[in-house]
Amino acid sequence: MSDRILVVEDEANIAETIKIAIENESYGCDWAATGETALEQLTHKTVSLVVLDVGLPDMSGFELLKRIRQTHNVPVIFLTARGEEIDRVVGLEIGADDYITKPFSPRELMARIKAVLRRTNNNSETNRSSVSSTFEVNDQQAKISFQQQALELTLAEYKLLSGMLTQPNRVFTRAQLLEIIWDANHPSEERTIDTHIKSLRAKLKEINASADQINTHRGIGYSISA
Ligand code: CA
Repeated sequence: MSDRILVVEDEANIAETIKIAIENESYGCDWAATGETALEQLTHKTVSLVVLDVGLPDMSGFELLKRIRQTHNVPVIFLTARGEEIDRVVGLEIGADDYITKPFSPRELMARIKAVLRRTNNNSETNRSSVSSTFEVNDQQAKISFQQQALELTLAEYKLLSGMLTQPNRVFTRAQLLEIIWDANHPSEERTIDTHIKSLRAKLKEINASADQINTHRGIGYSISA
């Protein structure tokens, strides 16, 4: 079955161009001109990816993504106007998968769409098994092993590591990581995350000196390799 893509864009000519490009690649395509219509469509249809304009008439694309995220895990690519650099950062922080700046070529957009779909499909199929070969999480005992050796973790470190392992290779911002450990530690600063990450890295290195599973993304946050 081919993937269906939902395009949320109030400008009909832009939506039409995107729809043609998507259908040319043999994907299904639905169009919503407002945020409310998009939410309505998402409850009735199986959608593999959403292309989401930031400037919608009834709510901002960011607001819409927050509402989508309450019930759906669907990947989202933002369409932003030129020069909305701040929007890019906010978009990635609230869980968009990619963004593209207007004006863009249909070909460029299709390349992004395919890359995100490939990533999502790979994640759901392969990541589970590769995680378990490197890390083993025992939720009930709140314990994690790395390369078959049990790690001695604080509660905050455990929450951080197990949280990141739910989505290997995803880049988490410090703010998102703070949310993961919030009820463990009530930290007031994002620097707290750096301290925990540093300590986690040291513990992984005790087991394997060349281990480099945690990646730093400057200015954004961290991800974990499986
Ligand atoms: Ca618009």
